[in-house]
Amino acid sequence: MPELREYSNLIGGELRPAAGGGTLDSVDPATGEVWARIPRGGAEDADAAVAAARAAFPKWAGLPAAARAHHLRRVAEVFAEHARELAELETRDNGRTITETSRRDLPGMTYLWTNAAAECAAAVEGRSVDFGPGSLGVTRREPYGVTLGIIPWNSPISTLSAKAAFALAAGNTVIIKPAEQATVSSLRVAELLREVLPPGVLNVVSGLGEEVGDPLVRHRGVNKISLTGSVDTARIITRASADSLKPLALELGGKSPNIVFADADLDRAAVGVTTQAIFTANAGQICYGGSRILVQRPVYDEMLHRMKAVAAGIELGDPMSPDTTMGPIVSREQFERVTSYLEIGAKEGAELVFGGRSGAEAVADDRLAGGYWVEPTLFATTDNALRICQEEIFGPVAVVLPFDTEEEALAIANDSAYGLAAGVWTRDLGTAQRMFRGLETGTVWVNTFRKVMFPLEGVKDSGYGHDSVLAYTREKAGLFEI
Ligand code: NAD
Repeated sequence: MPELREYSNLIGGELRPAAGGGTLDSVDPATGEVWARIPRGGAEDADAAVAAARAAFPKWAGLPAAARAHHLRRVAEVFAEHARELAELETRDNGRTITETSRRDLPGMTYLWTNAAAECAAAVEGRSVDFGPGSLGVTRREPYGVTLGIIPWNSPISTLSAKAAFALAAGNTVIIKPAEQATVSSLRVAELLREVLPPGVLNVVSGLGEEVGDPLVRHRGVNKISLTGSVDTARIITRASADSLKPLALELGGKSPNIVFADADLDRAAVGVTTQAIFTANAGQICYGGSRILVQRPVYDEMLHRMKAVAAGIELGDPMSPDTTMGPIVSREQFERVTSYLEIGAKEGAELVFGGRSGAEAVADDRLAGGYWVEPTLFATTDNALRICQEEIFGPVAVVLPFDTEEEALAIANDSAYGLAAGVWTRDLGTAQRMFRGLETGTVWVNTFRKVMFPLEGVKDSGYGHDSVLAYTREKAGLFEI
């Protein structure tokens, strides 16, 4: 077996193993084989990271915005220079296809960090109110201090970047806690950024949520937390941070409706709802995945036919191959969770429209038989109360439901604990506008899906708050009288 690659935490500008010496195995989800080792951090590492971030804060916060912008532009260059290497690491680490990581994620990161550099100026803009001669009110934007970004495994580089870039632009120093299932790309980013950011400004600490995440969440030296993850973890973090009253941003799960009206461009809609929104979007492992497809009755049969045809063209296989359009599920645990819903859907009486196979049966390449494979799977039902319609599956499993009227579509779409995003496919501007107003979600895409233009913010159980430069500042008021 080839030697395993070992990665380190970044704390105070130094690459360090976990203080207790522990490590965790990192598994390649396409083969099920261990390929790297990551530190298993604990409370001591959490304390060290907070101390380093606190020590670096005054100088970083005191830099003029233009100087911070200069550092962030250097970070953008690092992402551009190492784009291929980072795309390959991310693909190996979590199974996202190389097409997604190299064409979508990494180019997006150069843009995101460049944009954050440009926004440094906005972070120092305040307001003024003239109360008459001799009385002037002003506000000053201030960073929180040390911010903690807790990230999931499904898109580590982009989530790390969204949490670090805007927080740094605003003058905070940052600690990132990656997800144990896919940490390698974050640790490699840390190694690279060590060369361009001052020590302690960005720290990355790897390990389990309860072992290193929890002490960070409770730490009095952490001033704001941004979590992207599940609703269960959000509840735990909310309780754990309550004693120190930390501001939180919670970017959580979804069960996004994708609604096709009879007047839509059906060719476009069939591709949009089948690939763009779910199956080839990281094998459905995306928070805003359009996992509930609502189709108006006059085109219901036609859409099923077209969706089947699009799904038949999806290539499951080696995520490193440019021909592959869908990769594996990230870990054994997630694989078992996703496949349990194949059984739940069948037991609930939903009709299997296509897919349904998993494991070695789902992939043609024998070398990948040990990986975590699930076919693109579509169930059909008329009952939105089923568990497969209400619970986030977070894999390539979607459900299709028919509807008759706009009112009915809205009622089904909004009958969900989640409210992250929604898609609407129609040529009628009136329908589009009424749906935009009526859908209880943070984002609505019309005749497209998954193009992120503004920060993604949820409602209901999808959380609250987001990552942007202003969200990482607070406004201090002053009144000057002479
Ligand atoms: P998760 O909630 O299991 O883990 C997320 C992170 O929280 C990991 O780093 C984990 O180690 C950490 N964590 C767990 N317990 C903790 C604790 N007690 N204290 C501190 N940290 C702790 O989520 P996941 O399985 O990694 O990711 C999938 C979930 O993330 C899905 O629900 C998905 O919808 C959501 N997600 C949301 C968005 C969004 O922008 N809204 C984006 C991607 C993923």
